Amino acid sequence: MGLISPATVDRILDAARIEEVVGEFVTLKRSGGSFRGLSPFTQEKTPSFYVVPSKGIFKCFSSGKGGSVVTFLMEHEQLSYPDALRWLAKKYQIEIEEEETSPEQDAVRDRRESMFALNAFALKQFGEWMWNDDHGRAVGLAYFRERGFTDETLRKFELGFHLEGRDAFAKAAAKAGYQAEFLEATGLCIKRESGDLVDRFWGRAMFPIHSLSGRVVGFGGRVLRSDAKTAKYLNSPESDIYHKSQVLYGLFQAKQAISRANKVYLVEGYTDVISMHQAGVHNVVSSSGTALTLDQIRLVKRLTEHVTLLYDGDKAGIRASFRGIDLLLEEGLYVRAVPLPDGEDPDSLARSMDGESLNAYLAEHEVDFMQFKVEALTEEGAAQDPIRRAEVVRDVVQSVAKIPNAILREVYLRDSAQRLGIDERNLYAEMERIRGAELKNASQRRPDRDSYEDPSPPEMQVQRPQAPRPLAVEDALVKVLLQHGSDRVRWTGPDGLEQEDAAAALILDDLSSDELAFGHDPYQRIYLEMLAVWSAEERILGPEHFVRHEDPSLAATAAECLTERYQLADWSRKSIYIGSMEDQLSNHVHECLLRFKEHRLEDRIRASVAALSALTDPADREAKLSEFVRIQALRNALRAELQRVV
Ligand code: ATP
Ligand code: MN
Repeated sequence: MGLISPATVDRILDAARIEEVVGEFVTLKRSGGSFRGLSPFTQEKTPSFYVVPSKGIFKCFSSGKGGSVVTFLMEHEQLSYPDALRWLAKKYQIEIEEEETSPEQDAVRDRRESMFALNAFALKQFGEWMWNDDHGRAVGLAYFRERGFTDETLRKFELGFHLEGRDAFAKAAAKAGYQAEFLEATGLCIKRESGDLVDRFWGRAMFPIHSLSGRVVGFGGRVLRSDAKTAKYLNSPESDIYHKSQVLYGLFQAKQAISRANKVYLVEGYTDVISMHQAGVHNVVSSSGTALTLDQIRLVKRLTEHVTLLYDGDKAGIRASFRGIDLLLEEGLYVRAVPLPDGEDPDSLARSMDGESLNAYLAEHEVDFMQFKVEALTEEGAAQDPIRRAEVVRDVVQSVAKIPNAILREVYLRDSAQRLGIDERNLYAEMERIRGAELKNASQRRPDRDSYEDPSPPEMQVQRPQAPRPLAVEDALVKVLLQHGSDRVRWTGPDGLEQEDAAAALILDDLSSDELAFGHDPYQRIYLEMLAVWSAEERILGPEHFVRHEDPSLAATAAECLTERYQLADWSRKSIYIGSMEDQLSNHVHECLLRFKEHRLEDRIRASVAALSALTDPADREAKLSEFVRIQALRNALRAELQRVV
């Protein structure tokens, strides 16, 4: 391969649009003149990765990386400079004029490039053997066709066939000029003690494994002879270009569909992916038989936060999937599952119905992971056995505790409490215990955070477990105050009439009339300052006031609230908030206010339970008890109201 001519380089760079290129790998959201997304180079949870089209640059604040579209491809896809240019030329359909190069220049191309080149050759060779060789057609092509794969599918996934014999591929590659070193390095061949190279995949149906950008990093090969005494599937070994834990099979073919559907189906293996594709479900990938890794989750997370697992019904499969689920939850993804009928896998299911029915089936049988997990665990006769039952509870709570979003955690907890028939307060206590232990570990690493004071007036102060973080609902309320303070919301007043006002006005009036206070100090100060200005001048302080606040801790809190992703609209499984933005915001504010009050009432319930146990005088106990009953009634009314709203 020659050098790319300078004129071609210019044309490529003129044509390339950085937001389009980066957008193939990272979900970007426009924000003003730039785009923002989650860094593909780190495991960050809040986006600090920026693309500025007008300047043709990207900047990643969490890794410090930055540069042009070419640098991005070199970093992200591990391409050499010329290959990054070739990648762009292909995308923008620019013909490359090459200058002649010497054999020495060719020889400089690095080892990885040679391995990629060999894999590309192998891909072509396996295709040749399947489509054009008599034996290959009779064995390889016939096998795939018998499986029901169409020619279009075979081409889309670039499937092929590896001829039988000891060294058919080794010979073909040598003849084409590929060095033995790379035949061994890619794992396409195995070196015998005698020094001979023999083929690893002889006689197998070949599934190429692509990187996100479409280069072949390895292969899977399925045995075709029924009498063979070897593993059904063989995979390329780990190599400089193939790291199993960092690849998802089918992602290259699925990435656009995943991003469009904002959802990915996770299945077990090659044929599951391919059959579902053929049936018309394109947003599907596989972790190739192994447990899901963090790197694989990160790959997916750039495209969507919604993962649905398809597993066949056997218990081992389900149990194995739980580990993966916890990892997904921990990374903040929304997890669902479709339990499959006994004896079916996604491949057989997809083949048994047309695309439309498959889609309908998936939509209809999809359940939230918690439901899936609780059902799977309780089916095993746990309901009768108290010890097993306690284990199930622990197991479930442990999963919930991993969810980073506090509101989502609560929703799940409430839901599982119902499903397990257990008082949710017990679940809550157990979860707080687990999270407390984990948070303690985390804060030992970062001792400067998470101080907590109760700034409420003394008569409102209650004993409560040390909350190391603001409540999620406090987060949500402050975010509304800062991000949507002046946006209109509607509600029905006590007179039954529909009213409309700024969101901040509603919140400030409501909280102040109930004399409620935020437990998190910076939040309380933001609230009090807004309240003061609102009461005095009927003016709503905007976010810029707080971002520029003379108190740096308030400024930092405000900035955090403004940049943090706004998660609330997403936390429900079914979308609760339908309708206009205004309706959504109205519902959201109402729900937050109710939840906030519920929290405060729960604090008071806990406090009065504690007080009750300390009282000995019957009259005092009587009084406390009636207070307790009153608060509990209030709380229950509030819950009923919440249920009506949500
Ligand atoms: P059969 O025709 O007997 O059903 P299969 O080729 O469908 O065989 P299964 O044993 O059903 O294979 O395997 C289930 C799924 O796991 C399939 O999608 C298969 O392609 C995939 N699979 C099996 N082994 C591996 C592997 N090592 N790497 C990736 N996928 C695999
Ligand atoms: Mn199968």
